[in-house]
Amino acid sequence: MSVRFVIVGGGPGGNTAATVAARYGAEVTLIERDLVGGSAHLWDCVPSKAMIATGGFLSELERAEVMGLAADGRLDLPALRERIAHIEQRLHGSICDLLSSQGVRMIQGTGRLKGPHEVIAETADGVVELEADAILLATGSRPRIPDWAQVDGKRVLTTRQAYPPPEIPGHLIVIGSGVTGVEFTHMFRSLGSEVTLIVSRQQVLPGKDPEVAAALEAEFLRRGVHLYKGARAAGIDLEGETLKVRCDDGRVAIGTHAVLAIGSIPNSDGLGLDTAGVTADAGGYVPVNHHLQSNVGHIYVAGDLSGKLPLSSVAAMQGRKIAEHVMGLHTRTHRHLDYEKAASAIFTEPEIADVGVAEAEAFAEGRKLRVTKVPFSANAKALIEGDSRGFVKIISDPATGVVLGGSIVGRGAAELISVLALAVTCNLKVNDLVDSVLVHPALSESLADAAE
Ligand SMILES: Cc1cc2nc3c(=O)[nH]c(=O)nc-3n(C[C@H](O)[C@H](O)[C@H](O)COP(=O)(O)OP(=O)(O)OC[C@H]3O[C@@H](n4cnc5c(N)ncnc54)[C@H](O)[C@@H]3O)c2cc1C
Repeated sequence: MSVRFVIVGGGPGGNTAATVAARYGAEVTLIERDLVGGSAHLWDCVPSKAMIATGGFLSELERAEVMGLAADGRLDLPALRERIAHIEQRLHGSICDLLSSQGVRMIQGTGRLKGPHEVIAETADGVVELEADAILLATGSRPRIPDWAQVDGKRVLTTRQAYPPPEIPGHLIVIGSGVTGVEFTHMFRSLGSEVTLIVSRQQVLPGKDPEVAAALEAEFLRRGVHLYKGARAAGIDLEGETLKVRCDDGRVAIGTHAVLAIGSIPNSDGLGLDTAGVTADAGGYVPVNHHLQSNVGHIYVAGDLSGKLPLSSVAAMQGRKIAEHVMGLHTRTHRHLDYEKAASAIFTEPEIADVGVAEAEAFAEGRKLRVTKVPFSANAKALIEGDSRGFVKIISDPATGVVLGGSIVGRGAAELISVLALAVTCNLKVNDLVDSVLVHPALSESLADAAE
């Protein structure tokens, strides 16, 4: 008899696990209360990047003169809205096609555990009860809204209400300077808003390479973004057309709109965890072992709910690893997911991407590293494209030459990092990069140059 695998949540964690497990012969049921594709497609990665692409296009038009052209760009909000909806529909359609082609049973409804081996789906047509040999909880997370913020969806927004908002803000105050905060800063600045960014620490992107964060801050300042450093937002007041964000150090940022980018909370409430004996931590995340099992062995957790690296790409990889484990394939093919080797990108201008060991952290731990760096200003393609901002940095082991990590700041960083991600995952050496004959002229040549 095939394995009965029930999945709650159809985001990248859930739908990847469903496709892979079904391909290996499991009888898979996927319960999704909203749209398969998940918040990743509907609310987070895809709409934010679609808006950033539109803003990026406007920035490109601003560079028209550099390229020897004259141009005029005008933002068409309804067209932008339509464009985002179209992309979402296309992606949703292709995931549903893939799941159907693998024979996955999809249930539109809200899922919860009823016992260790029972899952309930509440649908528009009534309750469906399912028996399961293995269960995956992949219900994701939602934006965190602090007590001091009264979100109204018009002037005080969560990130999910900003794709795009009813009007492009005259002056947006972005609260939070992690990845989401800096992306929203870039996005709205590109779309023409004045932007103030509230930075609770002394650098944007806490935890990232300080050199990378400094490059982004310099670019924000060049583009006229106001940075409020070392300030935590503590209240929001609306006074007519004016919106004021009060900070804990007494400063007040004045604008017209505010968007909250201060993290997320897991969707574990109402999941019936206790009926199955599944333990969550104080924040509502469900801790997992290296096979992504909760404290109840046949109940797995993927994606944001697991409290690991909150990325769509990581959720999808967790889903794949879970499917392999459920189907007993881990003994043959399995490599544990190494979160340190996950590449990530920040879709700002300049674009930022990194993978592997963080230089500052590794030095602080006393590790010996070889760090090499080349600027894009020495790259022919960057000069041809009229944008030579940024650099490539490669971190390797001085004894063996094995590539341990790297950061890229500049055009195409999110694509270029895949070469370093492959090098880090496969333990390639800097000489492997140096010995590769790459395209000329291409931005990737800077990878080989930095590896020298
Ligand atoms: C603004 C923003 C931008 C981002 N951009 C990127 C990016 O560019 N790249 C990247 O890798 N990551 C990005 N992320 C992170 C990424 O969106 C998440 O890490 C990813 O969506 C997590 O996937 P998931 O499968 O855990 O959950 P989700 O994508 O949140 O999917 C969970 C699904 O479960 C459903 N669900 C919840 N509860 C139930 C229930 N009880 N029954 C049935 N269904 C349920 C939800 O409707 C949802 O569809 C971004 C996040 C934010 C906030």
